[in-house]
Amino acid sequence: MQNRIVDIVSRQILNSRGEPTLETTVYTEKGSKGCASVPSGASKGKNEAFELRDNISGFYGGKSVLKAVQNVNDCISRSLIGQNVLNQFRLDMIMKELDSSKNKENLGANAILSVSLACARAAANTLDLPLYRYIGGISAHVMPIPMINILNGGVHADNGLDFQEFMIVPYGFGSFSDSLKAANDIFSELKEILKKNGLSTAVGDEGGYSPDIESDEYALDLISEAIQKAGYTFEQVKLAIDFASSGFFKDGYYNLEGQNLYLNSAEFCSYVFSLTEKYPLISIEDPMSEDDLNGWKMLSENLNGKIMVVSDDLTVSDPERTEKIIKEKIANTVLIKPNQMGTLSETLQTAEICRKNGYNFIISHRSGETADTFISDLSVGVNSGVIKTGSLSRSERTEKYNRLLKIENDLKNNAVFNQIKL
Ligand code: PGA
Ligand code: ZN
Repeated sequence: MQNRIVDIVSRQILNSRGEPTLETTVYTEKGSKGCASVPSGASKGKNEAFELRDNISGFYGGKSVLKAVQNVNDCISRSLIGQNVLNQFRLDMIMKELDSSKNKENLGANAILSVSLACARAAANTLDLPLYRYIGGISAHVMPIPMINILNGGVHADNGLDFQEFMIVPYGFGSFSDSLKAANDIFSELKEILKKNGLSTAVGDEGGYSPDIESDEYALDLISEAIQKAGYTFEQVKLAIDFASSGFFKDGYYNLEGQNLYLNSAEFCSYVFSLTEKYPLISIEDPMSEDDLNGWKMLSENLNGKIMVVSDDLTVSDPERTEKIIKEKIANTVLIKPNQMGTLSETLQTAEICRKNGYNFIISHRSGETADTFISDLSVGVNSGVIKTGSLSRSERTEKYNRLLKIENDLKNNAVFNQIKL
């Protein structure tokens, strides 16, 4: 049987923050193989699948993943060798059962995901198909609108900005490559503007500039200026923010240290609302904390239908949590990160739930990435319509865009762009 898995080998590598992660290769009887590595977040939701680290003090800062590597090489590989690599769902369920905990804390979601993604790649290679085609079949044809994080704050940068990600969304163009070109113009223009204002052009974790400014609104002003100076309109390019607000929410209050604002839920909600009136925002992610459901409901009532209101920490790519917020009419868009859930099958399930219920969904990277471009293929495979994968610098980010350029080229006239409905 040509499609049988004959070997699985994992090892420890380093991610873009220089922290250990896993790279796993799955081999099939046909002689094909698939390799995948896993990313890691810095502002994680409380309910994300468990990332297994060794916690050995003085050794890789406690962050090595040798136990997870061993779990792949021993117990996972014993259970999967001999299985058909094309049975993605079955392979994922075998690993889930083997782990037997709710959030994959026994084997580690990082161990499981590395195998899950490597199996999909090995399967695609076995069939001689590009990965996006294997994932999406003949229906895969939508090139995603990139949400490009050009200014970094929060825990992704050492500046005073409270909000984590300031993004541009070049959506009013005919193709993915045209939108990327516009983003590149704006990113370069922003560099000039920062320089002129005597601000640093060093970059943060996701490749966006991280100037030492404290006012989040000033950041939005600078980006708006860059869009206009680069010759684009707000009909072509809009703004987006990932507030990552769980990080500054405590005891019922949103504490914006940079701006000296200490706001209760209703006050913060109106502050967010005022930002959407003042700036050409198309998307706001995690505006409210994962611990402030009432705030989320209040905000969603006001803004659903007007702009993309994106849930990240609240849903953590989990099918059940996603169903729950959809029932409660919270948000209208769900961020999907494969490593929040730990298997490809469950990630696909979450995407399907969104689609069935008329919610948009965005395939996303993490702040700690590797050169792996799996999410580029995934976003086209599931026709997500939007991808969030960082800035136009740092090769772990630009690799994802480069892979999308290649896919766009492969799809030729079959590629469509800008399919998002608000
Ligand atoms: P993280 O942040 O990858 O550092 O968790 C990304 C996000 O919050 O969307
Ligand atoms: Zn987020």
